[in-house]
Amino acid sequence: MDRGPIAEIDLAAIAHNFKIAKKITGNRAIIAVVKADAYGHGSVEASRRLVREGASYLAVAYTSEAVALRQAGIKTPVIVLFDKYDISDYFKYDLMPVIHDIKTARAFSKEAKKRKQEIRVHIKIDTGMGRLGFNEDIDKSIGTIVKMDFLTVTGIMSHFSDADLSDRSYALMQLDRFNKLKNTFIKKSGGHLLSHIANSAAVMSLPESHLDAIRPGLMLYGYSPLSAEPSKPRTLESLLRPAMTVKTKILSLRKLRKGSPVSYGRTFITSRDSLIAVLPVGYADGYSRIFSNNSEVLVRGKRSPVVGRICMDTTMADVTDVRGVAEGDDVILLGRQKVDVITASELAIKAGTIPYEILTSFGNKSRKVYTNGS
Ligand SMILES: *Cc1c(COP(=O)(O)O)cnc(C)c1O
Repeated sequence: MDRGPIAEIDLAAIAHNFKIAKKITGNRAIIAVVKADAYGHGSVEASRRLVREGASYLAVAYTSEAVALRQAGIKTPVIVLFDKYDISDYFKYDLMPVIHDIKTARAFSKEAKKRKQEIRVHIKIDTGMGRLGFNEDIDKSIGTIVKMDFLTVTGIMSHFSDADLSDRSYALMQLDRFNKLKNTFIKKSGGHLLSHIANSAAVMSLPESHLDAIRPGLMLYGYSPLSAEPSKPRTLESLLRPAMTVKTKILSLRKLRKGSPVSYGRTFITSRDSLIAVLPVGYADGYSRIFSNNSEVLVRGKRSPVVGRICMDTTMADVTDVRGVAEGDDVILLGRQKVDVITASELAIKAGTIPYEILTSFGNKSRKVYTNGS
């Protein structure tokens, strides 16, 4: 058999979530974030669908991700958020860089001049995220950048540090800084600039940040970054539809007597005569070892606890209470089966992380199949 679980990606769910984003934000452009293989959902397939639904731009982290989209025949404008190496690829594949510093701006201008090929760029301002971008130095850099040969600034952007919190004060401060710098920039450059700052959290909770375009990632895949905040209204979140289901099959069913240990370290001892399912998925497949004795899977619609330590290639689940269970039965690690559902948010809380990491760990290690609704 092949290694690893199957990630079933529902493209209709991605389309549905895109429509929700579109509805929230009115007629603004949508920059669909498809970095990290579209958060594990498969960047080519997800991008094709998002473009079909009306995404104006795609955004990736690194040039190799953008090149993969071009090689798949996707012609939509692609913004590369973080990369400043492989400058020739930007020209060769018609990609749009985000410029974080003056040195990189010069390098792009130089290459553009050499090729006699204009490059359009977006400028990133660090308004308080403390990662990449111009900060106080922007005021004096603006004049220099707008005069550079063969380089045209067509957009200006920033990124929120904590727009997912119910306390919006820091995000509003970032937005205020951004708006001021944006206005200075527009005055000096003279032209129109596409301004964008809103990630999913801001799309869902900070309408004044939607500006010219929104830049959502997570919500397109059906999850809200706000879910860790119980005080937030959940209405929007409940409209989103998770797009990823991760499944495997029971490899082996074993009868163990009461008092039997299960897996490395004997961290689980059966408290009754038990039926234990061995699953052909381990931490090497994105099912983190932190789920040892600490999560559940769905078998025949019933929640069954993961027991003992998760191994590199296998995981054990207690299926004693699952009526009619048989080897070869489908097992859901993430997603819906009958009336129950295991969400990435639920697993994230158990693992002390965020849904983003659950989706990327599973997605990037699973064999993907695509559906169009069920
Ligand atoms: C990942 C990312 C986004 C999307 O964030 P979500 O929280 O997934 O909506 C937007 N902008 C930048 C710069 C990013 O790195």
